[in-house]
Amino acid sequence: MRRNEQTLRLPVSGLEVFLSQPTGVEDLLLLEATNLDTQLALALLTAIAQAADGKEFAWDMLSITDLDTLLLRTRQLAFGDQLRADATCPASNCGLPIEISFQVSEYLANYLPGSVPGVEAAEESGWLRLGNMPVLFRLPTAADQVAIAHHAHPEQELIHRCLRPTNLTSEQLQQIEEAMEILAPNLAQNLQGQCSECGAMVEIFFDPQQFTLREFRNQAAFIYEEIHLLAMYYQWSESAILALPRQRRMQYAERLRQTKRTA
Ligand SMILES: [Zn+2]
Repeated sequence: MRRNEQTLRLPVSGLEVFLSQPTGVEDLLLLEATNLDTQLALALLTAIAQAADGKEFAWDMLSITDLDTLLLRTRQLAFGDQLRADATCPASNCGLPIEISFQVSEYLANYLPGSVPGVEAAEESGWLRLGNMPVLFRLPTAADQVAIAHHAHPEQELIHRCLRPTNLTSEQLQQIEEAMEILAPNLAQNLQGQCSECGAMVEIFFDPQQFTLREFRNQAAFIYEEIHLLAMYYQWSESAILALPRQRRMQYAERLRQTKRTA
């Protein structure tokens, strides 16, 4: 296995996944996308992830926890374990940049799924029941997230999609939601940081999908110039350049820039 590839097991589904690095093809996909959303995340994963057993896998059937885990693992593979999110000091007389950083591995370890007593699989695949409650539920998937993204009442729509029947008491609903959060913890969370200058506290919302897609897109920003340089100098075709691992493409282009500078 090459250094920039890895096999990992997803926390909720237990699916074993083989992950490779994005190439220029995915860099273009990210740069040319209109929105950094779940659909884009799925398009990226379809290109770089494979079920380790070699079978076709519908990535939109992953729970959101597994999808977010896979994205964080992808960025960990590309940029390392240390993740840095930027914020701005909220104090009106300060406004300095604040860096919130953490280890992806630690973050994921904090949100590992647990088990809930009384939860068992229902007859229908993917559906669960909790004790004697007269209700079936399933964990929200990437497909659900795509479906509710532009819905007028996304939370209600999610309940409609993931519960049968949906007319629960608020107490029952809360019990189910708590079970879901244990079985598939939400990886989109608020992060706290502190301004090193004035001591003010800041809180930012960390959404693994938005964050990793933006990070990859920022890294891809110079791809047009890189294609241009490599095509001009080596006479390589666009498709050959796009197929290169992104690090190698960037390295070659950087050499050419240096050559131009010293010429
Ligand atoms: Zn400050």
